[in-house]
Amino acid sequence: MSAPTAARDVLADVDPDVLARSEAALATVGLDPLGLDTTASFEVRDPATEEVIARPADYTPDEALIALDRADRAGAAWARTTARHRSDVLHRAYDLIIEQRDRLALVITREMGKPLAEAYGEVQYAADYVRWYAEEAVRPAGNYRESPRGGSTILTSRAPVGTALLITPWNFPMAMATRKIAPAIAVGCGAVVKPAALTPLTTLVVAEIFVQAGVPEELVQVVTTSKASPLSTALLADPRVRKVSFTGSTGVGSTLLALAAQHVVKSSMELGGNAPLLVFDDADLERAVEGALVAKLRNGGQSCVAANRILVQDGIADAFVEGFTERMSQVVMGNPLGDVQLGPVIDDRAVANFRGWVDDAVARGAELRTGGSAPDRPGHFFEATVLDRVPESAAIAQEEIFGPIASIARFTTEDEGVARANSTPFGLASYIFTADVDRALDVADRLDAGMVGINHGIVSNVAAPFGGIKASGLGREGSSEGLEEYQEIRFYNVARRG
Ligand code: NAD
Repeated sequence: MSAPTAARDVLADVDPDVLARSEAALATVGLDPLGLDTTASFEVRDPATEEVIARPADYTPDEALIALDRADRAGAAWARTTARHRSDVLHRAYDLIIEQRDRLALVITREMGKPLAEAYGEVQYAADYVRWYAEEAVRPAGNYRESPRGGSTILTSRAPVGTALLITPWNFPMAMATRKIAPAIAVGCGAVVKPAALTPLTTLVVAEIFVQAGVPEELVQVVTTSKASPLSTALLADPRVRKVSFTGSTGVGSTLLALAAQHVVKSSMELGGNAPLLVFDDADLERAVEGALVAKLRNGGQSCVAANRILVQDGIADAFVEGFTERMSQVVMGNPLGDVQLGPVIDDRAVANFRGWVDDAVARGAELRTGGSAPDRPGHFFEATVLDRVPESAAIAQEEIFGPIASIARFTTEDEGVARANSTPFGLASYIFTADVDRALDVADRLDAGMVGINHGIVSNVAAPFGGIKASGLGREGSSEGLEEYQEIRFYNVARRG
């Protein structure tokens, strides 16, 4: 950890008023949400300064089971409320989130490190899920079918699946929470939420706002802990958990699926990505450069849908690399409370990985076009970096980078581009830049991916079924499909007079 004086130096380039408001926002976070007077705690640090900003309760598996008991009982009562009531509560939660967006954005930036402007964007994106599920809550869920042979009528309905365990990552601490909590509330489930230990504070504020909006106090229980594994093992051993929704790495997702198998628990897994971004010769150059910039640099590159492998066709490659490098070299990095485009990454381990991957790629023949190093300052910073002509043998061509490094390789034919894009066990997002509609749709069909951005660097949208295939996961979040993840289908087969 850096000396406190050095940390203050970094804060010196931040507007004191913004800093004071962020301190005030942090001071509002309730750090013992279960109210168990738990004395054990763990440290949450600001990744821009490495200073400790909060010490939330470090709950044990036994305490998590108390939370489960509460959520399960509250869920049984909540399931009996009307859809209109649940919808109204979610609409109020949306309004309250928007009213409290300064508080939320400041907490997100302090604990996670994304630039404040992006934190405001996340608050709106996260709130949009709450509004979407307020609207979806009252949509008809069942249907009516005639038996093809006659003699009976089939009525289908949807029931809440039961108590849900929701485990979220650190990179979008608010949006990943509301994308799970809002559909659970909308259909009538109780939930135990386990946020990432690196970023638990935003979730605590979100849960408090849901209660302000009229969600029963015990329905959504946030369990902060530094010991994720024993806690989720204990919860998934309890048959009252009927749903697990996880967003995080593929390794942890597989472990949770094995635990969920004990009681055959319905599972949604939003796991790792390794998104290819294909730029074809006929692409609009400016659009491709801007799209790649957003797909690479949003959230400092710490996004599961970040463009991980930029694959550029030979005819446009030099012009693309030149334009893209120019834009990346202009990126302003600094304390995320300031007016910057790039804040810190989440921890030292990430910075060490980036250093190793850049050195390895250059040693194997890649060309470093801009960036490539970690500045000598407190916090976990790494420059916006462009590597061109990265060989497939380089570690960075295989790993999920999760940081501000663009790894570019070149291809000659469409078939080669598609084969390179698909040469990974992952299948979350992918991107295509081309002016040819036929090519865009043909290539999109051939890509192993749950989501394809076409001439667009952003795929996420509340109305879209977010999710991946292969090692990137199971199930979908957002849209109407995201609601079904918290429901069971039933049918009644009703005999009719011959
Ligand atoms: P992670 O898997 O380390 O952690 C995610 C969550 O799981 C955290 O809450 C963590 O505390 C918890 N956890 C860790 N070990 C656990 C265990 N053994 N048992 C139970 N819970 C455990 O992932 P991360 O580093 O927080 O996030 C980065 C990863 O998440 C990347 O691979 C990224 O692609 C993926 N991600 C995927 C999506 C998506 O929608 N597909 C979205 C965001 C992030």
